[in-house]
Amino acid sequence: MSEASFRIPLSVPHMEGNELRYLAECVRTNYVSSVGPFVGQFEREFAAFLGVPHAVACANGTAALHLAMRLVGVEPGDEVFVSTLTFVASINAIRYQGATPVLVDAEEATWNLDPGLVVSEIERRARRGTALPKAVEVVHILGHPAHAEPIAEVCRRHGIPVVEDAAEALGATYSEGPWAGRPAGSIGTIGCFSFNGNKIITSGGGGMLVAGDAAATGRARHLSTQAKEPRIEGESWHDEIAYNYRLTNISAALGLAQLECLPGFLARKREIARRYDEGLADLPGVGLPPRAPWAAPSFWLYTIRIDPWRFGRSRQEVRQALASRGIESRAIWVPAHLMAPYQGLPVLGGGVAERLFAEALSLPSSVGLTPEDQARVIRAIRELVP
Ligand SMILES: *Cc1c(COP(=O)(O)O)cnc(C)c1O
Repeated sequence: MSEASFRIPLSVPHMEGNELRYLAECVRTNYVSSVGPFVGQFEREFAAFLGVPHAVACANGTAALHLAMRLVGVEPGDEVFVSTLTFVASINAIRYQGATPVLVDAEEATWNLDPGLVVSEIERRARRGTALPKAVEVVHILGHPAHAEPIAEVCRRHGIPVVEDAAEALGATYSEGPWAGRPAGSIGTIGCFSFNGNKIITSGGGGMLVAGDAAATGRARHLSTQAKEPRIEGESWHDEIAYNYRLTNISAALGLAQLECLPGFLARKREIARRYDEGLADLPGVGLPPRAPWAAPSFWLYTIRIDPWRFGRSRQEVRQALASRGIESRAIWVPAHLMAPYQGLPVLGGGVAERLFAEALSLPSSVGLTPEDQARVIRAIRELVP
């Protein structure tokens, strides 16, 4: 069954605010490319939502991550620690700089990179005097914040920058500890976000890079616009080799309208999660999504775990059964260390990520999912219980 024909899709955009009005303004004013007022406005409102001083709108989340790697000085020969259980863009951004990703296993509690492995490996290297990672990239998958406090602590002690890939976690927050009330993506040296079509808000395609340091965001903006330096009026000088990574005014217009809706979207994601919890919690062999006591997840994609022995069917069988009823669901990513382009990279563990991959299934989670459609999804899963 092709994706377009799913009656209940996994995650589709939801437009209910000023999208058309702002887009029409782009056309009316002739500001459609990167020069235009919505770009700056989107950046300012995004930074305000996140509680950070500076943000740079990028062409997509992958571009933001690539800029982040360059900003923290990642170069060929360097190593960057990153989760093996993530979308490939997290890892590709490191490879774009010619550096070596060290693929770290997931932890059971959050499905994000295991802080114990990161801390012990950095301490081991520090004791032996061998090279430390140039950066640690903390990915917050599926809308659940990573257990990043021990990672941030060891990185602070050893002067290692932390880059956050918060592409899937916009609006997820820490609820306890030193970061209580602060959103994922706002705690590291640099944070990156995505506004791809299936993320919680979309700008068609787009991304954002945030940092507390104005020098970093200034440089990110410079690198995203071909490093153009107006040395002499009327002449185009470029002071280094850079990129065309800036967001367009059209995308920013869409992104801004969506951002205005984000608090409502988050409330609906959490409502969807609550209804799934109620509908599925009693099923033997079905694990509900991770929920650490110190976190307020956004439930970007509500993802369950299916124990094939206890549930009586595998994740793949459940996916197929849902598809035959017009319901789209999806496995999470193949752990990177199992895929051809990343084989041979250094790994720390990997077994937890492999088990999660085998068992995890994301269920329809669109902001616009109606209670009736959601009840159909829940019923379809319950009917599979032998
Ligand atoms: C979506 C996503 C990205 C990349 O964002 P794009 O805007 O699609 O380039 C990066 N990392 C993760 C974890 C993602 O889910």
